[in-house]
Amino acid sequence: MRWVSLCFHRFAGPANAGPGEDLVAIDDSLQWLRRCGFVFADLESTVRAALQGRFPDRPTVVVTIDDGFADLIPALPVFGRHGCPVSVFLATDFLDRRAPLWWDQLQLLLAEAPGAVRLQEVAGISWSARWDSAEERVRQGEVLIEMIKRRPEPARLTVIDALAGIVGAAPFSSETTGYAPLRWDDVRALEREGVRFGPHTHTHPILAALDHAQAKYEVDTSWARVREEVRQPLSIFAYPDGTPWSFRQRDCDLVRAAGLEAAVTMDGRWALPAAPPVDPFRLGRIGYQARIADLQASVLRLAVPGYGDPAKP
Ligand SMILES: [Zn+2]
Repeated sequence: MRWVSLCFHRFAGPANAGPGEDLVAIDDSLQWLRRCGFVFADLESTVRAALQGRFPDRPTVVVTIDDGFADLIPALPVFGRHGCPVSVFLATDFLDRRAPLWWDQLQLLLAEAPGAVRLQEVAGISWSARWDSAEERVRQGEVLIEMIKRRPEPARLTVIDALAGIVGAAPFSSETTGYAPLRWDDVRALEREGVRFGPHTHTHPILAALDHAQAKYEVDTSWARVREEVRQPLSIFAYPDGTPWSFRQRDCDLVRAAGLEAAVTMDGRWALPAAPPVDPFRLGRIGYQARIADLQASVLRLAVPGYGDPAKP
């Protein structure tokens, strides 16, 4: 039997000014998975068993949450209600510095712009956008985010600095409403409730875009910070973005060399083959989908070939 690892990022609620998953929809999804006969298991024990050749004997879902936003605190009881263990991957500089992640900084800056922005050859990037609604502004911002996310960190920071100059924005406050990370004290309190925490790089760059020294710094620093702050660090790494273009074999090797046991991707395929060999540094995950029909299409097809519709309650 296979298992499926689901990946979440943000949760809707007062702690989140941006888009996030609706908690009622998550509750429905978890209930639906249970009705289908899925069990929930924690990532570490599932991975360790698989690496010893032992795979789940029932259809299994593993829940992971990336980045470390504070909005996961009010979401955790929903998972707890269904007995669903949760593993969280932290971008450790986000927690240390308490400034919004770079893509949120970019959207926050555009929100202060007067309806049009033009970048001319900033770090090699030219981009102009005009909008007449907040939705259109966010959409245009996502285009710019896609343009720069594969660029090295300095280029991304140059673009963000240029935007800050254009809109005359003050530096971000450490507690910009709706984009705050967990505090390390929160992390330790959640750990006592059974949540596990692992590394997700320090500054959340796309590893494939970095040179060897930068990539090693990102992997090593995030793992060191997690071990410093967390009592029972989860020795599994999550690649930022996680799609196949976003990391290289070199990065898998860096994760292994750092002493981590495994790493998760977002390559869209099912989590593991039903039999070895398993590459512990390329364990797949899929993004959570709120619509039951979408979740059904992905989870059931991936986890249990030929699995039918859920039984009626
Ligand atoms: Zn991430």
